[in-house]
Order: sequence, then C-alpha cells, then structure tokens
Amino acid sequence: METTPATPSRSLATDAVHAGREDLAALGLHATPIDLSTTYPSYDSRAEAARLDEFAATGAQLEGPPVYARLDNPTVARFERAMARLEGTDSAVSFASGMAALSAVLLTQAASGLRHVVAVRPLYGCSDHLLTSGLLGTEVTWTDADSITEAIRPATGLVMVETPANPTLAELDLEAVVRACGAVPLLVDNTFATPVLQRPAESGAGIVLHSATKYLGGHGDVLGGVVACGEDLARELRRVRFATGGVLHPLAGYLLLRGLSTLPVRIRAQSVTAAELVRRLAADPRITRVHYPRLGGAMVAFEVRDDPHSVIAGVRLITPAVSLGSVDTLIQHPGSISHRIVTEHDRRTGGISEKLLRMSVGLEDVDDLWHDLDSALGPRPATAERAGAVGRAGH
Ligand SMILES: *Cc1c(COP(=O)(O)O)cnc(C)c1O
Repeated sequence: METTPATPSRSLATDAVHAGREDLAALGLHATPIDLSTTYPSYDSRAEAARLDEFAATGAQLEGPPVYARLDNPTVARFERAMARLEGTDSAVSFASGMAALSAVLLTQAASGLRHVVAVRPLYGCSDHLLTSGLLGTEVTWTDADSITEAIRPATGLVMVETPANPTLAELDLEAVVRACGAVPLLVDNTFATPVLQRPAESGAGIVLHSATKYLGGHGDVLGGVVACGEDLARELRRVRFATGGVLHPLAGYLLLRGLSTLPVRIRAQSVTAAELVRRLAADPRITRVHYPRLGGAMVAFEVRDDPHSVIAGVRLITPAVSLGSVDTLIQHPGSISHRIVTEHDRRTGGISEKLLRMSVGLEDVDDLWHDLDSALGPRPATAERAGAVGRAGH
C-alpha cells in the first residue's frame, strides 16, 4: 500500500495542491496520470491468488499492481489519499456518488448485525429517504441533537448528522454530538462545510462523508462520493465496494483530485460573496428569514415573503438547478426538488419551509448576482416593512 508520507505540519492549502501527488516528480510527471484500464496483465496466478485471498480476508488496499478496476485503481487511489490527508483520517474510500458512499457505510453496519441508525433532521433529501424507506434493511430513529443518547439501542450501528445541514444550514455542536454517541460511530456529512471550514474527525467523528459531486469537484461536471475514516472501517468499505460495484470512475478521480487543488481558494472567495449576499438579503423586506451558518461558507438559504416559485422562474444569471458547490451560482426550491422525496410532514419536522430557497453561491461578481436576485424577487413592497433577520443555525 502506498501510504501518505507523514508531513503533518503542512497547511491545508498546500495539501490541497500536493496530497496524492507526492510521487509525480519522481515519475517524471507533472499532471496526474489517468489509468483507464479495467484489467491488468499478470503472469503469476499463484501470486494473484494470494493477493486476492488477502483482500477478501482483510479489505486492505492491494499492494503492487492493480488486478481489476472494481478492486483498485491508481488514479482513484490518489484522490483517496488526498481526501484522507485533508480530513485528517487514516484512510478514505471513494464511490460512484455520495449516495453510493452512504449506502456502503449502511451496508457495513448492517453486515455486522447493527441495523439501527439514529439520525438528526434535516439531512439531504435522498439520505433521509434512504434511511426512512429502509431500502437497505436499516431502521432509523429520528431525533434531535439533544436526545441522541436516549435514542441509541444495543443494535445501533451508526449516528448520522449533517452540519451545516442541507438545506436549512442548521448547525450542530459536533463535540457535544460526539459525546452523546458514546461508543457508537458518528457519521458526519461534511459536504457543505468541506475540510476547508470543518474537519469533523478532529472533533472525534469517526466517519466523514462527502458528496464529492459538490464542492470537491467544484465545477458541476463529476459525480462522486467519498468516506474518510479509520483504516478498520475503510477495509470494510473496500470489501463492500468490491462486492457491490459502486466504484468511482478514474476520470472522475482525476477531476476530483484536480478540483481539490482550488478548493480552499474557491471556498474562500465564494464565502465572501455569500456573506455579502446574506447582508443584503437580511435587509430586504421581500425576505422573511435568512439562514447562514456561523461557520460561514458559500451556501445561503432564505425564506421569501411571496411565491418562491416565481424567484426560481425569474433568475437569468443564476441557474435554477439542484446540486451545489459549483463555480457558478445555483438556486433551487428544496420543497420541490432536493427534498421532494421527503414527505411534507418530515420536511416540516426538519424545519424546511415551503417558502425556503437554497442558493449555492459561485464565483461571479457579487453585484451581478445581487442584480439578478433583486429582479427575480420582484417588486419591493410599497411600505418598507421590518427587514428579515438572519437566522443562525440552532435557533
Ligand atoms: C448531494 C448530496 C448528497 C448525495 O450525493 P450524490 O453525489 O448526489 O449522490 C449527500 N449529502 C449531501 C449533503 C448532499 O448535498
């Protein structure tokens, strides 16, 4: 196994550019090579048998040349080494999408007989649906962050939270959640914060999940997921991935690794614009509430006084589309799109108002974005009403 060299003093910005790429210069390369092979020649089938036995028994990353692309791919492995480095975990295991990553985690827990999950709303709509539907044979107890300990049973294999959460940007005190979990592994979906703003493993979370489709890729052109965790769980995840096949494509691995190089710069620049838009929205009489995390970031949610659908229909520069984390600004109505698969009752439990819009702020000029939002929001009320307050997560 190629391990990440221990150079703990490097900053995140440096790791974002160099992690997973340390050996390139020695290989005489500058850009990351993409290995598209599905299979690899080997003249020594006895040695292969031993390596496959070893993988089946342990789930350890194969040493030596790859065997088959569902088992191992060198380009994808570079992205995984970089993610482990950025999240500060032993290992990272990537998947075809964020949902494939979450499914694999749930399957590892269920395989060890721990089918019960404790989860806090809101979660991303499809994550909520996967747990609620029991499609993978898991059972869920929804609770609030203060009652996690009470909800844990002997068969609980996982506690799952998002912070800041999709789509309300509600925030949790991760250290308190870690304490409440006791010995039960905590999965934190860190898609919104990214390791630039928050490294849940440093607070004691054992499992950090990303929809890499969002900020890690950053350009809206690659689907992927990744779990950063300890090597023990990583071994289970590799075995599940090999057996179920939800692998990240090498081209996606390449694009994600490239996306990581600009992640800190993108998050910083997009967050500055987001904070300014929050300031303008909070002072606007057409807005009743603005949600923006204490942590900062480039996601903004707001509730409109009038019809949210007319805002979606009215934007011209901003793209009305689901997903997030791209270099261009996207807006969507969670009640209709990202959280449509969650019942209206459960949306309400999660604090997702039908008036809520979720905006992922990109790299455009702030005044151009404001101009577009301003005209999409429609005429201002004749008499100036009380300006909307910024609702901080947890309030
Ligand atoms: C999009 C998203 C997911 C699912 O990821 P996919 O890559 O679309 O499968 C999971 N969690 C959060 C917070 C998301 O925003």
